[in-house]
Amino acid sequence: MTFSVHGQAVSRGIAIGRAVLVASSRMDVAHYFITDEQVRGEIDRLRVARDAVVEEIGRVQQGLSGLTGKDAHHELAALLDVHLMLLQDEQLQEGVKHWITERHYNAEWALTSQLEVIARQFDEMEDPYLRERKADLEQVVERVLRQMSGVASPVATPLPSEAGGLRVDWEEAEAPESHLVLIAHDLSPADMLQFKQSVFAGFVTDVGGKTSHTAIVARSMDIPAVVGARTASQLIQQDDWVIIDGDAGVLIVNPSPVLLTEYSYKQRQGEVERERLWRIKNTPAVTLDGERVELLANIEQPEDATPALAVGAVGVGLFRTEFLFMGRNGQLPDEEEQYHAYRRAVEGMHGLPVTIRTVDVGADKPLDHTRRDDHLNPALGLRAIRWSLSEPAMFLTQLRAVLRAAAHGKVNLLLPMVAHLGEIRQVLHLLGQARQQLDKRAAVHGAVRLGAMIEVPASAMTVPMFLKYFDFLSIGTNDLIQYTLAIDRVDEAVSHLYDPLHPAVLKLVANTIAECRAQGKGVSVCGEMAGDPALTRLLLGLGLRSFSMHPSQILQVKQQILRADTRKLRSWAQSVVNSDEPAQAMAD
Ligand code: PEP
Ligand code: MG
Repeated sequence: MTFSVHGQAVSRGIAIGRAVLVASSRMDVAHYFITDEQVRGEIDRLRVARDAVVEEIGRVQQGLSGLTGKDAHHELAALLDVHLMLLQDEQLQEGVKHWITERHYNAEWALTSQLEVIARQFDEMEDPYLRERKADLEQVVERVLRQMSGVASPVATPLPSEAGGLRVDWEEAEAPESHLVLIAHDLSPADMLQFKQSVFAGFVTDVGGKTSHTAIVARSMDIPAVVGARTASQLIQQDDWVIIDGDAGVLIVNPSPVLLTEYSYKQRQGEVERERLWRIKNTPAVTLDGERVELLANIEQPEDATPALAVGAVGVGLFRTEFLFMGRNGQLPDEEEQYHAYRRAVEGMHGLPVTIRTVDVGADKPLDHTRRDDHLNPALGLRAIRWSLSEPAMFLTQLRAVLRAAAHGKVNLLLPMVAHLGEIRQVLHLLGQARQQLDKRAAVHGAVRLGAMIEVPASAMTVPMFLKYFDFLSIGTNDLIQYTLAIDRVDEAVSHLYDPLHPAVLKLVANTIAECRAQGKGVSVCGEMAGDPALTRLLLGLGLRSFSMHPSQILQVKQQILRADTRKLRSWAQSVVNSDEPAQAMAD
């Protein structure tokens, strides 16, 4: 049956593929693809584990046989019979074989996938006795998984397990022929980053808002994605055909042939449009009236420098270093590891400037599952610069690593979420200390330009104070919108209130740009607003000449710049900012 699910559009384009459901279930298993040659081995691994469980149950049954006569033991014996029966159930065995041979899932993944298929059938049963057998099936499968966990996996080295988290090693994976789309209840930004090299053609999560970090990483991968699709992971079944319309934020499950044809056509049109955009990759970003605009890249890993250069970025405007720190079970990267990562990014940009933002963990970017932020209001808590200043040894380590990387190219150091003069003073003090420590060791280091992010209304309203201490400012509109409008950027329940065009947001953005320009200081926007081509003309009209975004968005924004005449945009942009209904004013 065809049905559709609505969510938030976060990454454009159309993906069509079979659903791979990655349940964040209590059974935390590795998920990876196997090769043709490994199919036999995986089936055997499963058979050995199943036989061992059958034996184990047999031994328990024997132990019970001397104790017959007692009701409880009768019941237990009957239950064990049910477990034996379920273990040998043809649907379970055949289904698991199907996932291994046809889809090339590893044995554990195949087993949990089939468990899910059968569990849904149990859920639909009218007879309450039969419905309850689902719990037995889960127990049996868990026993088999436990057996298998003692057996080394042939290909993949599962990533360190985190309670309730995913363990996936897609890099070793071999892509099956048909396209696959990933459906999950939730994916942490760190999980999402693992999928960068994966085979998936699209992503869907039940939770999350447009500017949640999971959505941001999905967008950086430039593949269609929808978040906040609420019950998608319950409604969609393994292997269902799914169309992800990343422009409209809609999923179509088990589409009819007519719909498939229509969306395949749209998909091809999108590809043609992208190819056309590639033609302007070497064209300088200059407006019709000759205003030169700087298009910078937002990156999460040093390797992202390559796609940034490929689309003609003239530098990195935001390197989100927190991804080096996340999902490591508390083992933070030391100075050497960080130095090499930053140096790789700097060298990867071949002399173009790289803006390294100090670690911004907390809220929706927990360090890892062991340190999940359980404070009442994590977005208002110890995150970003606040966390760094509360861990001075960690912060000094990062500052030293950045200063050392600065010896290899142009580096800007950017501080997230600064709001207080006291914070600025502490940072300056620690930066001086980091330099002294390096001098003492005679370690080579370079000069950095120092910048602050304008992410909270307090900083946007005190720009002159910031400009006394910083060489440049970068407007983080994702957080600025979150804090100005008091909406949690990860909560899909309030995502309809996320509004970059709210008059208050626009006034803060316009004010920051104007004050920086008046003092001749650099200012850029590095939040998602910078990468939205629908807002390019407005930002240009407000005087912005430096935009930082995911490499995948650069060409679309450049296209807008090439068509714009800033002389005509200035008064129009001011009237939009001064309007009670800026969205309407923009359309007029
Ligand atoms: C922002 O808040 O706009 C920003 C760029 O930082 P992040 O999205 O990483 O919080
Ligand atoms: Mg931010």
